[in-house]
Amino acid sequence: MSRYWSDHVADLSPYTPGEQPRLDNLLKLNTNEHPFGPSPRVLAAIKAATNDNLRLYPDNDAMALRQTVSTLHGVDTAQVFPGNGSDEVLAHIFNGLFRHGDRPLVMPDITYSFYRTYCKLYGIACQTIPLADDYSIRVSDYAGVQPAKPAGIIFSNPNAPTGIALSLADIRVIALANPDVPVVVDEAYVDFGASSAIALLSECPNLVVVHTLSKSRSLAGLRVGYAVASKEIVDGLMRIKDSFNSYPLDSLAQVGAVAALQDTAYFDETRNAVIRLREALTQQLKTLGFQVLPSQANFVFARHSEHDAAALSRMLRAHGILVRHFSIARIDQFLRITIGTQADSDRLCNTLSEILLKTH
Ligand SMILES: *Cc1c(COP(=O)(O)O)cnc(C)c1O
Repeated sequence: MSRYWSDHVADLSPYTPGEQPRLDNLLKLNTNEHPFGPSPRVLAAIKAATNDNLRLYPDNDAMALRQTVSTLHGVDTAQVFPGNGSDEVLAHIFNGLFRHGDRPLVMPDITYSFYRTYCKLYGIACQTIPLADDYSIRVSDYAGVQPAKPAGIIFSNPNAPTGIALSLADIRVIALANPDVPVVVDEAYVDFGASSAIALLSECPNLVVVHTLSKSRSLAGLRVGYAVASKEIVDGLMRIKDSFNSYPLDSLAQVGAVAALQDTAYFDETRNAVIRLREALTQQLKTLGFQVLPSQANFVFARHSEHDAAALSRMLRAHGILVRHFSIARIDQFLRITIGTQADSDRLCNTLSEILLKTH
């Protein structure tokens, strides 16, 4: 705490990212990074763009990227809002769409923890709705939200860190039941098995759908994300962006992102591989006595009936394996485990089986 800080700084609750230690023989299954690298076309595009033109400012509106996204999803270019990772896109959404005096933002009690961080940052009240006992989002809870006019509704689909997805029919019900407020669907993991709510945009103009290239495109290091929404909503978000940073995406990120989105063959091959590896790891973990929630993401959320999750996480770490554990009520007996290669899964499960035997 410094006397030079503005008053609100001491009250912030900054997000705690999964750790990124630099250790030998480390197996990182804690931040949902992709086990395979990005498309080779991405690396080639970035290398080709690494030249004297870096003296120039990048395209402030990232038009080539927005056009590529618009072709990919069959929407208008003016409906695409790009940003420096989807976390930045989300920050602008909170700032631009959810600040309505005392009206609270509605979200599940268990979801991406950054949402609460942004509520603090922007002074937005937050109203949480508990997940059902099976950790799913109960749609009826969002159909008649009280107060009748919240500041907005936000959730991830598939939800994080449970991995459980809602159907498009369910999202449609939530969006249509709340026509006067923005309903934001964070689809960071949608490419691993769920359906994108972008298909509902023409029917539900209050929907805002957020995507990232960090997970299914294997580009967490490049920092690119985007929202797809009505042109009017995107216009508002552009006003926020241009009041904050006109150049959120550097030139290399823009060309790399375009190349990634255009390489559909590599995308399908690698995401399908992750889906197969997820199903295999789920079976391996069940054999070891874990309960595994049904995941549509590139991670699984699992608990063991006889072993404390925090202790398991510590023991795995001692073996150089990082998984994510949240000390949060209701989910503190779960481990969130990112899908790695088959060799990663084997190392994880062999280590787990040793630990389980020793500590029995
Ligand atoms: C990873 C993740 C993000 C952030 O992605 P970036 O584009 O890397 O900022 C957003 N939402 C959820 C639910 C995530 O898991």
